[in-house]
Amino acid sequence: MNILTDAEDMRAWSVEQQRERLSIGLVPTMGALHAGHEKLIEGAVDNNDAAVVSIFVNPTQFAPNEDYERYPRTFDDDCAKVRTMGVQAVYAPDAATMYPPDYSTYVNVEGLSEGLCGPFRPGHYRGVCTVVTKLFHAVMPHRAYFGQKDAQQTAIIQRMTRDLDFGIEIVELPIVRDTDGLAMSSRNAYLSEEERKQAVTLYQALQAGESLIDDGVQDVQAIVDTVRNTVDPAIVLDYVELVDADSLEPLKEASGSVLLAVAGRVGATRLIDNIKVEVA
Ligand code: AMP
Repeated sequence: MNILTDAEDMRAWSVEQQRERLSIGLVPTMGALHAGHEKLIEGAVDNNDAAVVSIFVNPTQFAPNEDYERYPRTFDDDCAKVRTMGVQAVYAPDAATMYPPDYSTYVNVEGLSEGLCGPFRPGHYRGVCTVVTKLFHAVMPHRAYFGQKDAQQTAIIQRMTRDLDFGIEIVELPIVRDTDGLAMSSRNAYLSEEERKQAVTLYQALQAGESLIDDGVQDVQAIVDTVRNTVDPAIVLDYVELVDADSLEPLKEASGSVLLAVAGRVGATRLIDNIKVEVA
């Protein structure tokens, strides 16, 4: 397995694969790999000739008050893990090379970035789109794999890829959960035992909302209230929203493909979760 840290070296490696007519699947990650990442990696390994995992904790997607410094970094363990999974290359650039002091170019997807997490994480999606653009240019994949866990991010990347003619197929894979239902996240490592018990109620609350939808309830307020009332009161919610799964526009009633999404702070840790429902 190759470990590449420079964009030029990465591109040279990818050009070599393309010369041999091999397809490349990319899984962008910030490392601290867990079972959620592993599902994406399996998807890339199974459906492409060569799989690349990028590991980069991207400073431009963290606001100054966020957890960039303390974000878990487990690079050696991550490499050992992906090596056993049949990954051909890890791309792990360093922040100083990605963003030299006079760096000044950013990519922003309007509209889709403005709802849900947008107002609570100013500049976050601009940072995400910028780094994913740079990763796409370095790796030049045929397909790139993203998780429904970050449904807004995946929708934004899909739109960016289409709007900017990247010609890369974006594949979204379902949320992987722990046995207690909590969506896998590198940030779960921050949770105390008590906080983890509270965090589990996020998924239970989404399920309560989903049951109402399954029972034919279309009233958005009733669904949102049920979710809010089921979440542990110790969690400080940023939002509970029911939106169109594709446009991410708020819905007046539950119909079509809907995304029920929640974000909140459990102690100092911000967690997100969602459920997609096809309303019959
Ligand atoms: P991150 O390392 O947190 O930036 O995540 C890298 C990719 O893994 C993103 O596309 C996430 O949506 C995806 N991902 C993270 N957690 C999960 C999960 N529990 N299930 C599925 N995909 C996930």
